[in-house]
Amino acid sequence: MKITDEQTQAGYEIASAVYDGAMSAKAGAQRLHAEHGVNAASAQDFITIFKSMMEGKAYHRTLSIPATRYFFDRLAAERGPVALANAIEATRQHLDYYERLEKGGAQPTKRAILREYAAHPPQLKDLGLINEEFARKVETSASDSPDARQARLRTAVSRPAKVRVTTETFVRNPDVVAETLYRAQGRCGRCGEPAPFRRRRDGTPYLEVHHKKQLKDGGDDTVENAIALCPNCHRHQHFGPPDR
Ligand SMILES: [Zn+2]
Ligand SMILES: [Zn+2]
Repeated sequence: MKITDEQTQAGYEIASAVYDGAMSAKAGAQRLHAEHGVNAASAQDFITIFKSMMEGKAYHRTLSIPATRYFFDRLAAERGPVALANAIEATRQHLDYYERLEKGGAQPTKRAILREYAAHPPQLKDLGLINEEFARKVETSASDSPDARQARLRTAVSRPAKVRVTTETFVRNPDVVAETLYRAQGRCGRCGEPAPFRRRRDGTPYLEVHHKKQLKDGGDDTVENAIALCPNCHRHQHFGPPDR
């Protein structure tokens, strides 16, 4: 039976949830079968191979080449370099086992994949790019029909995957924030209203310090370029139309 990309994705996600203890192996295999049309044997294989990969131990059943790549990619992205190294080791031991079988035989393509991932582990993804890609996917989903979207929601995996990312951030000057809030005296610099609430931590008025010209656009981290805003006005400055 040919396993589709969708089934491989579901196989990875459900095997991952089983490994983390979010559901039993039996419930996971049933779900793969009932909701994703994976046959019982393949459903069980996804779950045991995932566990073997996490533990760096040989597995005896076979995972297709695209599924092996998919598992390596996501393990590297979500669980880091040690998980990838264990998955490579588990697959190496699997191939040693398989190639000794009478009906086995050399697996040069899979051996090449092991060398490729060991030499060039997938790079961590950039957080900004992930957020942009997510925003595009939300737009695509919103333009889809409610029926199609709701059908996907019914079989969606409810526990979100985690992914390791790289990100860059500015090291901001705390004096600019403190001084801007001090000068604001608890009032929003745009609408002039008092802060909507006081902070649980210390009872000070809750306002957010915004850079009029954003740091990423070359703006300075100075009191002159900063303004204290209520949360509504702050979101407006980032996502609303420009003020006249
Ligand atoms: Zn305001
Ligand atoms: Zn801002």
